[in-house]
Amino acid sequence: MVLKGEAVEKNNILVNKENCAQCLSCQSICSFHYTKSFNPLKARIEIKHGHFKEGLWSSNEIRFTDECKENCVLCARYCSYDALVIEEK
Ligand code: SF4
Ligand code: SF4
Repeated sequence: MVLKGEAVEKNNILVNKENCAQCLSCQSICSFHYTKSFNPLKARIEIKHGHFKEGLWSSNEIRFTDECKENCVLCARYCSYDALVIEEK
């Protein structure tokens, strides 16, 4: 179920960061496709999981880097948690 999304217009992906399970599938497929290595640090999407600090939970953060390609939705195709959803036009 998609709860809410933040449109990332350039590649038609809706981001539901609260759904992210930090499985790293998106980073794995992105880095493999573009650099032929399974290395989250080489992916064009950054994932930071929320954590508990000083009595408060911070939220997950998902961000696309400047190298993220137009019209590529590969990461969203491999996200099983509806954290990245391809926007239907
Ligand atoms: S849209 Fe494509 S290039 Fe951008 S982060 Fe996802 S897989 Fe990587
Ligand atoms: S594939 Fe989806 S659930 Fe997994 S880390 Fe990426 S955004 Fe989060």
